Amino acid sequence: MSIRTIRQIIQPKIVIEGAGVRLRRSISPNRTNLFDPFLLFDHFIFDYPIEGPISGFPMHPHRGIETVTYMLSGSTHHRDSLGNSGTIGPGDIQWMTSGRGILHEEMPRQDNNGRVNGFQLWVNLPKERKMVKPQYQEVASESIPQIDYLGSHMKLIAGKIKNTEGPITDISANPLYIDLSLDNHSVFTQNTNSEDTVFAYIFEGGCSFSEYGETVQATTLVHLNKGKQVKIFSNTGVRLILVSGTPFCEPIAPYGPFVMNTQEEIRQALKDLREGTFVR
Ligand code: FE
Repeated sequence: MSIRTIRQIIQPKIVIEGAGVRLRRSISPNRTNLFDPFLLFDHFIFDYPIEGPISGFPMHPHRGIETVTYMLSGSTHHRDSLGNSGTIGPGDIQWMTSGRGILHEEMPRQDNNGRVNGFQLWVNLPKERKMVKPQYQEVASESIPQIDYLGSHMKLIAGKIKNTEGPITDISANPLYIDLSLDNHSVFTQNTNSEDTVFAYIFEGGCSFSEYGETVQATTLVHLNKGKQVKIFSNTGVRLILVSGTPFCEPIAPYGPFVMNTQEEIRQALKDLREGTFVR
């Protein structure tokens, strides 16, 4: 069985977004679409007072994508143009399908120890679903299946491991999203569709992707080559987010918080925003 080898190792860049939030960004929307169907991967981590008080992401639009927020510590308060509001806490997930348009605000909050730690992934929508009605799937930590098997500890957010299915369903990109911890001297194995895009974001410890391969240490994103099986070896323990998805193989036109298929559709999004017809 073909094992997925390392295609590229990416060190996240520090970027400032929203109202001055410092992020570690590993993937950003680009026409080359190397991570198809994924567009962006951000790690927001703060440890007050080292990084200062947190501002957040005041009201902004999205069209044509899905944004996925997963918290490890601290929380994110959100509200939107459809009248939804709520707070995502540690271990909770929010999978937001922006479709034709949404305006929302995302405000990370520290926990009692002053910590915020979480991730945001952007998943593309295929051409025929870019203008669907916006939708949310919000899942509380206690509803996310935890699977423990031979030194692997998995929180299954989306996709399937053996007979267990994650709570996030009906996503066009057919995603697998796992929060994975490996004990010392353990090996994790997961089958994937050979042609799917797979990456691992290592945020604690280190691991390798073949038995005698180089050890990749946190904090790093590893893009894997095509292949049937993902194998992760850890000598000293590791924590990572493992993501896979089926590419749409369509051209993309990214522009800030919008990702459409053509420039014309971007112009339309900006026009709708100007004319007040963006949210219907
Ligand atoms: Fe947003």
